[in-house]
Amino acid sequence: MSGTADPKLTDLPLRPELKGEEPYGAPQLDVPVLLNVNENPYPPSAAVIADIGRAITDAAASMNRYPERDAMALRDDLARYLGHGLTTANVWAANGSNEVMTHVLGAFGGPGRSALTFAPSYSMYPEYARNTHTEWLTVPRRPDFSLDVDLALRSIAEIRPDVVLVASPNNPTGTRAELDQLEALCDAAPGVVVIDEAYAEFARPGTRSALELLPKYPRLAVSRTMSKAFAFAGGRLGYLAAAPAFVDALRIVRLPYHLSAVTQAVARVALAHAPEMLRQVDVLRGERDELERWLQTTGLDAAESDANFILFGRFADRHQVWQQLLDRGVLIRETGPQGWLRVSVGTPAENAAFRDALTEVLPTAE
Ligand code: PMP
Repeated sequence: MSGTADPKLTDLPLRPELKGEEPYGAPQLDVPVLLNVNENPYPPSAAVIADIGRAITDAAASMNRYPERDAMALRDDLARYLGHGLTTANVWAANGSNEVMTHVLGAFGGPGRSALTFAPSYSMYPEYARNTHTEWLTVPRRPDFSLDVDLALRSIAEIRPDVVLVASPNNPTGTRAELDQLEALCDAAPGVVVIDEAYAEFARPGTRSALELLPKYPRLAVSRTMSKAFAFAGGRLGYLAAAPAFVDALRIVRLPYHLSAVTQAVARVALAHAPEMLRQVDVLRGERDELERWLQTTGLDAAESDANFILFGRFADRHQVWQQLLDRGVLIRETGPQGWLRVSVGTPAENAAFRDALTEVLPTAE
């Protein structure tokens, strides 16, 4: 155990598969227009801020005690919000759906097991797999980013994955899967299926949630987050609905007291203000549709989005476009397939700034 007192990372006995890895995360830059991580651009109202303050003061009074370990009151509120006849025992919650998904792979993945998803998809998925020692496998989507159900079914039959993970609406493409497609995957999957509905509230009216399928499939889970529709990314609260036994499996791998008393209290405040939070989702949906139409009028491709962001392209040098937008104070995300960029939907003023900047950049972007 001798050596220098201030070792470099390469001097430490890191797990071999972590060598050379970088911590995940988009650049956090201080620029006027932030449209890079699919946040909700609207801060909480004065009434919500005041209620959050009161809830934190109440929680502070018993901060010497550990929090309610099973977050029953919060899970009860979440079940009520989701509807579909769900109860507290059907709902799990953790610090962001990133942690929920880590619990899922901790319980149902692991050494000698595999997880399958449909690429391109959310770039954190392979990291959950790596951290839980789960083999990570992908099957491509169609060129329009829709699910290739025939290929998916063939792959499931061949690979027999322990976990099938589908984001709908998908990140970074914004495209959604139809309920009958998800049902076909549930029928075929030998293990568990997780539908990641992080962006469900932004879907077009009439879109059916995979929550409808829960009574039929005991190995199905539907994951959600308060980060997007509830404008609660800083509060860190993700959740999942499934059969009570599925939730019991997740409780085995969670750390005790994983949800702080402050997180539980503050998330309950945001949920109590659900109608106000969701009114802004309507505004964002309208802005998204307008932005998508505008992108198409510029001659660019824009994937049909049911989320609060749009994947658009294609550019011979997407990095240059990303940089030129940044030079004009607009930060978007360089992610997804080669040639494409992703922009989150902001306030009308932020979207206008994005359109103005892109209009200036486009002539040099061919
Ligand atoms: N799933 C998808 C598809 C996402 O895009 C995100 C956030 N970018 C998450 C899950 C994680 O959300 P959070 O951890 O903030 O709940």
